[in-house]
Amino acid sequence: MSVFNPIKAMRRWNTAQWQTFALRVAIGLSVVSLVPALQSPHNLAAIAQPLIHSPSFARKARDLGTFRWNSVTVEKGQTVSEIFERMGLSSKTLHQILANDGAKQSFRRIRDGDLIDFEINGYDQLRTVRFDKNDLEQVTLTLEDGKVTEQILTRQLEKRLQVASGEITSSLYADGNRAGIDASVVNQVANVFKYDIDFVEDLRKGDSFQVVYEQTFLEGKPYRQGHILAATFTNRGKKLSAYRYNHDGREEYFDADGRPLRKVLLRIPIEFARLSSTFGMRKHPVLGRMRAHKGVDYAARTGTPIMAAGDGRIELAGWKNGYGKTVIINHGQGRSTLYGHMSALGKFKRGQSVSQGAIIGRVGSTGLATGPHLHYEFRINGKQVNPLNVTMPKPEPLRGSALAKFRAATAPAVAMMESDLSTRAR
Ligand SMILES: [Zn+2]
Repeated sequence: MSVFNPIKAMRRWNTAQWQTFALRVAIGLSVVSLVPALQSPHNLAAIAQPLIHSPSFARKARDLGTFRWNSVTVEKGQTVSEIFERMGLSSKTLHQILANDGAKQSFRRIRDGDLIDFEINGYDQLRTVRFDKNDLEQVTLTLEDGKVTEQILTRQLEKRLQVASGEITSSLYADGNRAGIDASVVNQVANVFKYDIDFVEDLRKGDSFQVVYEQTFLEGKPYRQGHILAATFTNRGKKLSAYRYNHDGREEYFDADGRPLRKVLLRIPIEFARLSSTFGMRKHPVLGRMRAHKGVDYAARTGTPIMAAGDGRIELAGWKNGYGKTVIINHGQGRSTLYGHMSALGKFKRGQSVSQGAIIGRVGSTGLATGPHLHYEFRINGKQVNPLNVTMPKPEPLRGSALAKFRAATAPAVAMMESDLSTRAR
């Protein structure tokens, strides 16, 4: 809730200015008292009413006693005591305020550019001080008989679903931004489709996307973008869909047929890296002779996290001749993955189980490597195969009543996307 404050425009008045203001009001009121015709329906008349028959000195005194709001913007490096001093408030007042623990804590949160409202009278007495503790909480401190009471007003956030769509012209971030979605939403889109699309290698001009996401509003203004509820991505003419759905107490993404998008193995175990060498015969960059490259290489900066491609058990976490610092994960059913040339191994030791996406090490150039990259191998019964050609086993889709519930839950997002499409087609 916003509090209307007409005094906010009159920032940083000093005591002298306040007294001049008070005096002018007093003079104004004496004029009014001489011209009773002006008293009629105006608000001014109502304010003037109790003063009309008072002697003028009492009028002025009473006006000085009137509390008025005055705002100050915190300047760079300004302390709370400096602000109080500037407002003409005594150090005694400051100590009374800071004697309250809540008030002390709240004042610690004040930053440059914040606005603080003071309710002060002409005798430099403070009644109330008010400021935003953060975007959602407004603190009001009231000083009465030397005691402070703290009141916190919480603003309401309103959540609404929004739809955004766009076409790829440069990058997912730039084009997402143009469509009105921020980096956190773009990351979710990339994450949801990471099993099927390599956003570095596969992205093409003319690819398109649509996203339904949560948008929170603070007092009517866009505040924060949240989860994506649905997304489609058309990559090289092939349309993929993702719908967020709580199944068995877990939020997961499913395709339009109710099949989980999460696969047994990640397509690539590293984010936003460049495929620098493919599987097959090549001239070895260090040895200089033709040799089969039994994995794929991803060039990335030293230290880039490497993720476990799937759930499994650590078979090796240590040095392995030309591979340098290496991790091998056994995923069961004869499948294993190998990650070589690491600069550092993760916290997982041999024999420990690991979950898909867990960080198992960092990109480096240990062993026979010319520069920092991840050498990634996929093995079936000990024999290396091209990880980019492996068709991952598909997880079981939702069926029967589970599928019906999924369809009902995702219907609003589906409808939003359809109506967005038809609006754009018009
Ligand atoms: Zn390699």
